[in-house]
Amino acid sequence: MPVHNADIEAIFTEIADLQEILGENPFRIRAYRNAARVIGGLGQEIRELIEVGADLTQFDGIGSDLAQKIETIVMTGTVDTLENLRREFPPGITDLLRVQGLGPKRLKQLLVELKIQNRDDLKQACEQGLVQKIRGFGAKLEAAILVSLTAQAAQGRRFLRAAVIPYVENLVGHLQKVAGVHSVTAAGSYRRGRDTVGDVDILCSAASSSPVMARFIAYDEMKDVLAHGETKSSVRLRSGLQVDLRVVPRESWGAALLYFTGSQAFNIALRKRAQDRGLKLNEYGLFPADADDEKKSQLPIIGKTEDAIFQSLEVPAIPPELREDRGEIAAALAGKLPRLVALRDIRGDLHGHTDQSDGTLTVEEVARAAKARGYEYIAITDHSKRLTVANGLDAERVLRQIDEIDKVNHLVKGVRVLKGIEVDILEDGQLDLPNTVLSRLDLVIGSVHHKFNLPEDLQTARVMKAMDNPYFTIFAHPTGRLLPDRFPYAINIPQIIEHAKKRGVVLELNANPFRLDLDDKYCRMAKEAGVLISIDSDSHTLADYDNIKHGLMQARRAWLEPKDVLNARPLAELLEIFKRRRT
Ligand SMILES: [Zn+2]
Ligand SMILES: [Zn+2]
Repeated sequence: MPVHNADIEAIFTEIADLQEILGENPFRIRAYRNAARVIGGLGQEIRELIEVGADLTQFDGIGSDLAQKIETIVMTGTVDTLENLRREFPPGITDLLRVQGLGPKRLKQLLVELKIQNRDDLKQACEQGLVQKIRGFGAKLEAAILVSLTAQAAQGRRFLRAAVIPYVENLVGHLQKVAGVHSVTAAGSYRRGRDTVGDVDILCSAASSSPVMARFIAYDEMKDVLAHGETKSSVRLRSGLQVDLRVVPRESWGAALLYFTGSQAFNIALRKRAQDRGLKLNEYGLFPADADDEKKSQLPIIGKTEDAIFQSLEVPAIPPELREDRGEIAAALAGKLPRLVALRDIRGDLHGHTDQSDGTLTVEEVARAAKARGYEYIAITDHSKRLTVANGLDAERVLRQIDEIDKVNHLVKGVRVLKGIEVDILEDGQLDLPNTVLSRLDLVIGSVHHKFNLPEDLQTARVMKAMDNPYFTIFAHPTGRLLPDRFPYAINIPQIIEHAKKRGVVLELNANPFRLDLDDKYCRMAKEAGVLISIDSDSHTLADYDNIKHGLMQARRAWLEPKDVLNARPLAELLEIFKRRRT
């Protein structure tokens, strides 16, 4: 059984979680979390790197000790550190760690106070109302945990879209090599760019289906074959991801792609449009409504491309990211489809860390990375002092960094390094550094990194108060959610949007694939309110700058156009916006 990066990532995350419950050394825990993140973000399978004798310590955050553990995991599927830790806990611990709304801290309370052993115990305790009585839990969280336990059992786990990309690209490439194959692509929520996916639907058009199916089933990453048919097969990969493959004839390609891309609600709306015009739309094509099934094969059908079908329905083509039945058909008919923001529109990145806090690059390396990407500007926004685990900067270190940025701006031409900070919003809404320091910076990103469990009204008031500070520029990762299954903290985002509008504050779409925060619905709400969105990578390593592409997917789902995005603005305009905010 080949070990995938996702397996190594899961093992390191579990080690960190278990060590956190045991209260072990925070630096050690952080090292595991960093390594998990780095491995999860690699574009290449570690297994293959080891095969060719690559040195794993070349990667950020992987020292010789972790490199050795990775090799052990690749060879044996596990590592002693994990097995020894698991022995300190009840056997259901791994499942419990996956329950939505529970982090290591809360799980520890459940283990200690209710002697929970497994998911069944937890479900029972929720049903008896015992969980809500634990300090910091409450009835709302108890209900949410219960929903999560039931939903997880019913639908299995969801995967980050970003984590699924390498598998999909690999598999699509694998199938494209089969003789007689015309097109292969992933449809479904993957194609619509959703932040998480339940499974993956791959669609293929080919002269004949059997060689494609044979190659699919023989793919060496497979764990189980769930179904093997002439035109449809389902398999489960080692990572647990289910993949369905459908092979369709070329003349139905467009109709099938449209149908299997969905969403279901969009399909229903589009079928209605067809009906109103005396037509019938399904996964095989577009037919006259009165054609019965036997005759269908003799009728000329329109189904070869999505564009042809849209054209026949007299609807301008709608991008997959918008197909959610959220008004896109009406907008298309009115000629009001947005010109969705794309990578070419992005002129810089406004949230990133250096080795001064918990990143790995120097200021100069950040500048050169930005220049290599063709950016006009890049902001340095390290953590502030309250975040001691991330080695946050105090006033003196901020001032020193300002000098360093001046030097780098002198040295590296063609890109402007902006001076910023990711300042903690304290519990009372004050910022973690004085205005005398903040006023020296180009921009100030404010974040909630602690006291996640305040009641909604207090959390909202805390952030609104922070926004009242004239130096506050961007509110980062506004809901604090962590995908696939950690809840946002309680905060009233519509109210935050309204206040941001009033104060001229920008909201962030944090492009880290675990965050994608704000999500598509809230970003669209912000756009409609006239609040700018900044799509930021929140980079800690060089590879993280690529996160921007995940943020763009979410932004496109939110109907964002270049004009709605702060970092699609040229530098001069950006500086003008920052200045206006302060006066
Ligand atoms: Zn942050
Ligand atoms: Zn950050």
